[in-house]
Amino acid sequence: MMKKVAVIGAGTMGNGIAHVFAQNEYNVNLIDISQESLDRGLSTIIRNLDRMIAKEKISEANKTQTLAKISTYNDLSEGISNVDLVVEAATEQLELKLRIFKELDALCTKNTILATNTSSISITQIAAATERPEKVIGMHFMNPVPIMKLVEIIRGYSTSDETTSTIMELAKRLGKTPTEVNDYPGFVANRILMPMINEAIETLYNGVAGVAEIDTVMKLGMAHPMGPLQLADFIGLDVCLSILNVMYDGFKNPKYAPCPLLVNMVMANKLGVKSGEGFYDYTTSNKAENISLQFK
Ligand code: NAD
Repeated sequence: MMKKVAVIGAGTMGNGIAHVFAQNEYNVNLIDISQESLDRGLSTIIRNLDRMIAKEKISEANKTQTLAKISTYNDLSEGISNVDLVVEAATEQLELKLRIFKELDALCTKNTILATNTSSISITQIAAATERPEKVIGMHFMNPVPIMKLVEIIRGYSTSDETTSTIMELAKRLGKTPTEVNDYPGFVANRILMPMINEAIETLYNGVAGVAEIDTVMKLGMAHPMGPLQLADFIGLDVCLSILNVMYDGFKNPKYAPCPLLVNMVMANKLGVKSGEGFYDYTTSNKAENISLQFK
């Protein structure tokens, strides 16, 4: 029975993952090399818990108990001592993840399961950096973690049945719906989502319709809660580009080639919400105002 979990990275995903584990009574060591990220991560957790209190979903006592379960660390070796599971949610860079997993493999006890929240990097490749590939698995939470129900559970080439069933069970205990998939580029979520986003950008690039029109068609016509261009802004256009490139390289199939407009926008540092501008403008008081990009 798992009791203690380490989460590596306290950014957008890491703080949400720590929140969900702590709220379900697991002890969580939240580790980040940046003290600023740890501080920001903890304030996000507090803000999200306060929001849940305001909605009468949890009590003040529940917030105190949840926060008491979280300890923060800058040092990896201190933070991972005696944990049953590590969930890595550090920056999406292959070299970084390979280095972290090599280090985890050397430092963790032999029974510790090593999971990664990567959106696109091969689980099989990450696992191969360790001497325990059967205990390496993808645990792909969705953003925002405390709210979204899905956890895509990705089996690498060597992931064992035992590791998979342990992690499926664990995700259920967190109140999530785990879904098992195999390790191919984009897994399932991004393999289906990213071509749709890319096609929406291509539709804009070809001058078929404007930003608002494309998003309106998908929101009102397909009952999507958010249009694909707005969703791309929320995910980050750099992230969308890098996932498309992983699929393009992985399948050697031109259908995944990123739209030149997406490439240009990333080069111009128009990354969406995080940079203040993407398909919409987030710098004005009227957030997400259509900046009326038209390509005729
Ligand atoms: P982020 O940039 O918000 O956070 C990454 C954090 O990792 C930063 O705080 C950084 O300081 C920290 N970090 C970097 N190197 C580290 C190291 N060596 N040790 C400890 N911490 C380190 O990124 P994010 O959006 O939270 O993404 C994290 C992971 O989750 C990525 O693999 C990403 O692909 C995946 N993911 C992201 C989303 C999303 O919507 N943002 C959704 C699903 C999965």
